Amino acid sequence: MARQVNGQEVIADEPTPAPISHDGRPVVWQQTRTLLLADGSTVYGCAHCTYTSPNVRSIRPHLSKHKRTRATTSSDPVAALVKQLGQVEEITKDRDRWKIRALKAEKSLKTLRDALGVSS
Ligand SMILES: [Zn+2]
Repeated sequence: MARQVNGQEVIADEPTPAPISHDGRPVVWQQTRTLLLADGSTVYGCAHCTYTSPNVRSIRPHLSKHKRTRATTSSDPVAALVKQLGQVEEITKDRDRWKIRALKAEKSLKTLRDALGVSS
């Protein structure tokens, strides 16, 4: 939410009465904030970020931006990637263990061959 607009401090922050009504009752937009500035002027602001506009109608289209942001965060691609990297690391460790065992076995075989006098 904006605390300052054009260098003017926001002295009041209220929901905005919509220019429409629902079943005869007035509608209030909670996410469109009416901001009263220190110099007495009024602007409209977004409830989620510092976006402001002198035109009340430009706030509602702007709010759709925040809906998209929330949707992306919920799927969390970073967490999925970290999990995948963890699995890759496990596989790599496993492969190294098998490599060590294979080298040891090869060495034992060579020792055995030498002892038996079998040339490889
Ligand atoms: Zn916003």
